[in-house]
Amino acid sequence: MLSPIRCFSCGALLGDKYEKFNALVAKGMEPSKALDKLGIKRYCCRRMILSNFEAINKMLPYAEAAALLNDKGDEI
Ligand SMILES: [Zn+2]
Repeated sequence: MLSPIRCFSCGALLGDKYEKFNALVAKGMEPSKALDKLGIKRYCCRRMILSNFEAINKMLPYAEAAALLNDKGDEI
């Protein structure tokens, strides 16, 4: 899934914080402290960042295979 642009519950803007959050966690910061540093205080917004899963890289091979089948004219 792509990074969340807004919180589904309260509508707060989160799209600009997801990359920063991942960078902080990659440097070894605790996820809860990274969320605090970015100013994400509400539970609904915190779950948006914490529960996001980058599925695009796992789904991409299937999309490419489907595109190849479509190019050959086969039914999927
Ligand atoms: Zn929220």
